[in-house]
Amino acid sequence: MTGRLAIVGLGPGAPALQTPDAAEALAAATDLVGYGPYLDRVPARQGQRRHPSDNREELERARHALSLAAAGRDVALVSSGDAGVFAMASAVFEAIDEGDPTWRRLDVEVIPGISAMFAVAARIGAPLGHDFCAISLSDNLKPWDTVVRRLTAAAQAGFVIALYNPASKARPRQLGDALAILRRFLPADTPVVFATAVTQPDERIDIVALGAADPNRADMRTLVMVGSAATRRIERPGAAPWIYTPRSERTVAR
Ligand code: SAH
Repeated sequence: MTGRLAIVGLGPGAPALQTPDAAEALAAATDLVGYGPYLDRVPARQGQRRHPSDNREELERARHALSLAAAGRDVALVSSGDAGVFAMASAVFEAIDEGDPTWRRLDVEVIPGISAMFAVAARIGAPLGHDFCAISLSDNLKPWDTVVRRLTAAAQAGFVIALYNPASKARPRQLGDALAILRRFLPADTPVVFATAVTQPDERIDIVALGAADPNRADMRTLVMVGSAATRRIERPGAAPWIYTPRSERTVAR
């Protein structure tokens, strides 16, 4: 098989935060596959075919990309942020695992990108300086019970928590429920960061206390980062505070 599939993380939005490796794979591709708004971030190139798709059909999109590669095309399948974090790289390997055995002979490469949690962390200070985890609040692919169990364990264990997919029109209630769970285990003054469209023109970042966090602030372009009991705020005159988590902790969260 001569085809190639590059699964490319585009970063959080700003072109400068896309890696040179990603740019190279995008430029070399004969075919671009991905969610429409993500494809729109890739500069047009003559002779290159584009296959935009809907947001929800990830496995189908992965199979489509694999079929194109199997037909000898040089395909770039795009994801936002990092391609392996709640994104298309897993969908591709699921498709290979269950699909046409000849797909195992394809040249598949995953090209990493800057995940939203890293872009958000860099904007506000160093919240991920100690142990942390990432949880997707979408229950399209897992039961809500599992989310509840993980939130509880993460808060009890003292992890800083990056919440991906905190809300969508189809799932308006989940972030409110998640915050209510976290309030049971974390102090009311724990910093919570709502970061929307980070590194994009309409970026908005709000830092609030867990006790006052309003779930309606989040939409599907928002990452919500919840500090641990060790996470600190450095107040600054006339500017947003810096948020950081010290590298060592002497007291353990409850
Ligand atoms: N692979 C992506 C995540 C895809 S899941 C990554 O590594 O970043 C989609 C979720 O990512 C969104 O609901 C939001 O929570 C988060 N996200 C992606 N880009 C973002 C950005 N620029 N600003 C804030 N959150 C973002």
